[in-house]
Amino acid sequence: MSEESECETQVEPQYLEKAVDEDFSQSKDYKMEIVWRNVILQGLLHSIIFWQIYYLYRYPDEWPNFWKLLKAGSLYTILFSSMGVTAGAHRLWSHKSYKAKVPLRVYLALAFASCGQDDILTWARDHRVHHKYSETDADPHNASRGFFFSHQGWLLVKKHPAVKEKGKNVDLSDLYADPVVMWQRKYYFWLAMLTIVVIPVAFPYYYWNIPFWHCFMASGVRLLLVLHGTWLVNSAAHLWGTKPYDNTIGPVEQNFWKIWVFTGEFYHNFHHTFPQDYKASEWGWIGQLNSAAMFIELMAMIGQAYDLKTTPRKIVLARKSRTGQWFSDKKNKTSQQSEVKVD
Ligand SMILES: [Zn+2]
Ligand SMILES: [Zn+2]
Repeated sequence: MSEESECETQVEPQYLEKAVDEDFSQSKDYKMEIVWRNVILQGLLHSIIFWQIYYLYRYPDEWPNFWKLLKAGSLYTILFSSMGVTAGAHRLWSHKSYKAKVPLRVYLALAFASCGQDDILTWARDHRVHHKYSETDADPHNASRGFFFSHQGWLLVKKHPAVKEKGKNVDLSDLYADPVVMWQRKYYFWLAMLTIVVIPVAFPYYYWNIPFWHCFMASGVRLLLVLHGTWLVNSAAHLWGTKPYDNTIGPVEQNFWKIWVFTGEFYHNFHHTFPQDYKASEWGWIGQLNSAAMFIELMAMIGQAYDLKTTPRKIVLARKSRTGQWFSDKKNKTSQQSEVKVD
């Protein structure tokens, strides 16, 4: 057995398998159905941006308060919300790339509620299906249907029947067995209200005496930034970039987005190739921007995170030389040249 296959057998198959049984994109009976309730809710949420712009135009004296809200909101997002989705729902609960003790799981569960992306169990189920059936109709945010669909459109229409069908077969027993996940699911609405609206509005309102409606609008703008930041991983990180680890899959490595969205989720070709690596990137935070990897290592230092799974360097290199874009290009070029010589 080769070193690579030895490593891959340590990873539970459902995190590695890809859809090989059928091509769902061939289904002809499918008719897209818009969910108007979601369209209206998303429309209302996005309208907050226009209200915020109008408010600042109408009351220019509020600009200093806006900058204060922006700084506080950024800190809240970097330390809390972004860790909830990256270190929590994604790397801990969807991929089991490390284990966490109860205090850290509670922190991450609350942090994930502040992202407005449904409860952990629902998100992790969709994400496991996404990995297993990437770029097919069974992928909830199938990027082969274009940027808008994979970014936001998939939330505005009914799920494709293939997503529901394949979603039923995904093993979620570990999530049902985690009391923190079930607690977050049971009280999701109230936890989301607390972390999305109450805390971001109450703190600046009482502490800095900023007008209530300004605090409220800024909390909406902050939520939108978190949502679009996450959605870009499903859209842009499946469409535009390079494929140094596996040239046969859709997800890509991004060199632009990662500059400002520094959570470490945009090394997506690596992540889909080695989905159980807690760094979700080849180099972690030392060589790349990756705040979630830094957070997980910090939690490991204080004993809250343990059993961190990572991919040995030689296996990464072996995979790169076998399926990576540049090696494939080189191989194709060499074989083309030898064909020309034979002719
Ligand atoms: Zn992906
Ligand atoms: Zn993933």
